Amino acid sequence: MNPSQIKMQNVSRIYHVGDEDVFALNNINLDIFSGDYLSIMGPSGSGKSTLLNVTGLLDTPDSGEYILGGNNVTQLSETQLARLRQDTIGFVFQAFHLVPRLSAEENIELPMVLAGMDKSERKKRVRQALTETGLLNRAKHRPEQLSGGQRQRVAIARATIMHPKIILADEPTGNLDRQSGQEVIQVLESLNENGITLIMVTHDAEIGGRASRQVKMLDGKIVQELKADNHDEVN
Ligand code: ADP
Ligand code: MG
Repeated sequence: MNPSQIKMQNVSRIYHVGDEDVFALNNINLDIFSGDYLSIMGPSGSGKSTLLNVTGLLDTPDSGEYILGGNNVTQLSETQLARLRQDTIGFVFQAFHLVPRLSAEENIELPMVLAGMDKSERKKRVRQALTETGLLNRAKHRPEQLSGGQRQRVAIARATIMHPKIILADEPTGNLDRQSGQEVIQVLESLNENGITLIMVTHDAEIGGRASRQVKMLDGKIVQELKADNHDEVN
């Protein structure tokens, strides 16, 4: 059998607030395979964003092991984590997080500039990304000159421009109207059809129901997983 691309073993993340310990993640065990399409649902405060942030190396567990691509990443330094993140992971957020004074094409180009990629390769990739996300005629627009759906498609293009193996999306349609949300989901799903692992947090049961694996969280725990093909409960 294929080894897991993402493996969490008894992962916990605990916040100490005043006298209280908040288990944002409480003993998470999870195996995700290359090419999986997984949705994460659950009430506000159940640990969805924390799970995504730990998966995306933006946060680290307080206990347990995280094995990414066969390597235990639990003890890596900040620099090593940043490098691995750059090579492996693309993040899409609810609030887009684009750089306001940069145009769409400059936002998309930014990760490649930071990685020191040469200009001709950068231009080639930007053009392809604009084409794939239907934004060729918006290349020179700044974020404030774009609709919400267009901003999120710029954010997706930026998140995938380094050819990550995994896309993590935290409520990517949360700030969008229904139509724009559908378009964004289609772009994310087409990436998954091309082999990228897609992990998406959503409040929208209809969107979450499209994923082939559907995880439900409550109080920092995974309380249920459904598989779409047969709707069998896995645990
Ligand atoms: P969700 O994304 O499902 O709404 P989060 O992962 O953001 O949930 O939060 C999980 C729990 O951890 C919540 O109870 C939240 O209040 C707590 N939490 C998250 N971030 C912090 C923080 N920086 N400091 C203290 N508590 C936090
Ligand atoms: Mg959240």
